[in-house]
Amino acid sequence: MSSILISGGIVITMDPDRRIIKNGGVFVQNDEISEVGKASEIRNTAELKIKAEGMIVLPGLVDIHVHLAQALIRGCADDASLIDWLQKYVWPLQGNFDLEDGKTSAELCMLEMIKSGTTTFLESNLSARYGFDGIAESLDASGMRGVLSRTVMGLPSYGGQKGIMHPGMIEDPETCLHEVEAHHKRWNGKANGRISVWYGARSLGGCTPELYRRISEGAKKLDTGVTMHLGEVQEDVQFAKREYGKKPVEFMNDAGLVRKKVVFAHGVWFTEDEWQILAKKGASVAHCPCSNMKLASGIARVPEMIRAGVNVGLGCDGGPSNNCYDLIREMKWASLLQKVRLLDPLTMKAHTVLEMATVNGANALGMQDEIGSIETGKKADLILLSLKHPHLTPIYNPVSHLAYSAEGSDVETVIVNGKIIMENRQVKTLDEKKILQQAEYRGFRLLERTGISISPNGLES
Ligand SMILES: [Zn+2]
Repeated sequence: MSSILISGGIVITMDPDRRIIKNGGVFVQNDEISEVGKASEIRNTAELKIKAEGMIVLPGLVDIHVHLAQALIRGCADDASLIDWLQKYVWPLQGNFDLEDGKTSAELCMLEMIKSGTTTFLESNLSARYGFDGIAESLDASGMRGVLSRTVMGLPSYGGQKGIMHPGMIEDPETCLHEVEAHHKRWNGKANGRISVWYGARSLGGCTPELYRRISEGAKKLDTGVTMHLGEVQEDVQFAKREYGKKPVEFMNDAGLVRKKVVFAHGVWFTEDEWQILAKKGASVAHCPCSNMKLASGIARVPEMIRAGVNVGLGCDGGPSNNCYDLIREMKWASLLQKVRLLDPLTMKAHTVLEMATVNGANALGMQDEIGSIETGKKADLILLSLKHPHLTPIYNPVSHLAYSAEGSDVETVIVNGKIIMENRQVKTLDEKKILQQAEYRGFRLLERTGISISPNGLES
């Protein structure tokens, strides 16, 4: 039995009434939240007391589109269009990963997520060469909650561009399908329920229609989820129309892959009728504004999608496309991008982006009863963010500060499943110094092995 009382902070509950409690108190018993209210009303005595004066207490953030294996290649693929970016840089680098690179990159990424307040993430594409077991062990050790999706691919193509994938990234579909089942059996529900295993289908052109159907059936059988990139660039739409005579979501719907616990990353080019299908079937979209801006993929029509009833969460995507894994910064991108697109400062308010980073993310993963808000009976996934900074003073509206002024490094304390995994910005579960040293060493070795050199001024040499 262990108990923690967090008292004195501004508790932003994200509960159905969206209550914000000043001088709030949150009582944690083992891995669950057992009481939420005014600090003065909580009578329980706790083994550990955390004073939260001058802090915001928030549900842990949920990032629903992350590439763990891309943290190591941050800064290696800037200023390129998506296909060039994949073919010339990302795939060759990832195609040269060894198991230790995969583990180091994942740990680096988790470290960054913990230090910026993300407690749950959805990793979208793990290939065998990154070492699934090693990454799952690191996730267990990190104390975070995560969904690991094992890649399933059939063709080394992206859209209509055939055979463009680096040989090191190519895998056989039967092996992929078999491994999802094996990893699911070994890891799903492990680490006190913190680890889930999903299917990570390759984007259009990377699987045959038959393979998508098999993924759908497999996921139904295992009662698990599926994630994939869809509608990220205009070429996706052109490919689906040319090959299948359908729009991307229509095609996936026919393959049985539009339903709850299905997350489509990006959805930039989805149209009104596709939103209707997503809303009706309960599939979600991971909006990744920073990645979409950097790769110039386009601007997803997020307010319209939400109005149509689609559940839209937020994703940081990857090291070379963002280039960071800070969901607090992502909230600001998500809001401002829509305001300038629509020339409407009233759209995508601070509260909307906070919902995307918390309750909507939880809903996308089918974890809405466990995480995403501070409510009695939910898992104790909480973050404490310090307001004692010039950029957060004075505090009139805490939600405004979170969306527009805060940054990941304001997060002081992180609790997952009732366990403190970061305290006063010191990560207690992972060895930060060692991981940074490893990343420095392995990153440069990987570049050398791949034959890619990065000029220090970013210009072609
Ligand atoms: Zn992605």
